[in-house]
Amino acid sequence: MGSTTPSILSRFTGRARASAPPKRHADPPRPQLEGTFVPRTWLPDGKSCAIVFTIDDVHPGTSKDAYEAGGDLEKGALRHLAWLLERHPELHATLFVTPDWRQISPFPTRRLLAKLPVVGQRLPLTPMLAEGTMALDRHPAFVQYLRSLPRTDFAPHGLHHVSVGPRIGTEFQEQSREECKRIVEKAMAIFARAGLPCRAGHQAPLWHLTPSFVEACKDLGLTWLGGGRDLFTPPSDTAEAAMNGPRGVSMMHPTLVAGGRVVVLTTNFQATSDVDRAFAILDQGGVLAIKGHIIKRVGPYVALDGLDEVYRAYLDALLRLVKERYGNRVLFTTMHGVAEHVLGASARQKESA
Ligand SMILES: [Zn+2]
Repeated sequence: MGSTTPSILSRFTGRARASAPPKRHADPPRPQLEGTFVPRTWLPDGKSCAIVFTIDDVHPGTSKDAYEAGGDLEKGALRHLAWLLERHPELHATLFVTPDWRQISPFPTRRLLAKLPVVGQRLPLTPMLAEGTMALDRHPAFVQYLRSLPRTDFAPHGLHHVSVGPRIGTEFQEQSREECKRIVEKAMAIFARAGLPCRAGHQAPLWHLTPSFVEACKDLGLTWLGGGRDLFTPPSDTAEAAMNGPRGVSMMHPTLVAGGRVVVLTTNFQATSDVDRAFAILDQGGVLAIKGHIIKRVGPYVALDGLDEVYRAYLDALLRLVKERYGNRVLFTTMHGVAEHVLGASARQKESA
């Protein structure tokens, strides 16, 4: 596995003892976005920095399915989130929920097919769940459990979390703006049918925000997007996210894209990041955007940022240190909360200009 790990494989370590690890496919080129960094001016009075906590890949899969992804409710991985929310009454969470999850394997398993030059790009290279199997509206107990979590927002994470070709989970790749729009609309319609509140945002699978996808989200009136991931670039006002996801966005400040109408926020912290990185971001007035993945294990692999006892204990300690150091100056919020502040400040600035 590479050290700058833009694919889903980056989240997994540990090899199967008996079999060779699946082969990682080259990552897609990083799309370029045009945007404006918005450092600090958007923060409400008295706040000098902010924290958001987001969790990806949430869907009704149980420990009897390919992945436990929240479907075991209070007995599964979501119990770690519930534990953190109980211990930290100021903490908010944003869950990125896939409305109709179809992914079974994050790696191509049809290896011969994968070798064929054109066909291998156009066909599914691994079996997928039948459409509707994991649709949220078919799992009312799961939706009810999600709704019972305090201070938790929800937004879609793709529609099916699958693609044809070798990049299994990268759902938005070559689709046109209209096609992206239809996919995002379908995702939100499933939220509505299931009765799960849906914030006006979206997190594209594998952080892959193409310009068509961004424009489609703007067309639909979405106000924010989960952007890329950067776990290594030293935090600064001018530093761009340089790891996964789009180019041209800040690694720690909100970035306004799509003509100033959509806020993009980059993940910059996970289980493997050290406390100094968190302090460097917060000291400079950035948004500490902590990522967790709900799926801890996929076959022989273990997700580094998968929620478990160890990661939650680390976050518990981190949040205590942050509160000691910054007191009331840190704004605990959600992705939606950041977008509301940023767009509000931007509108006020235009009025007074
Ligand atoms: Zn995902």
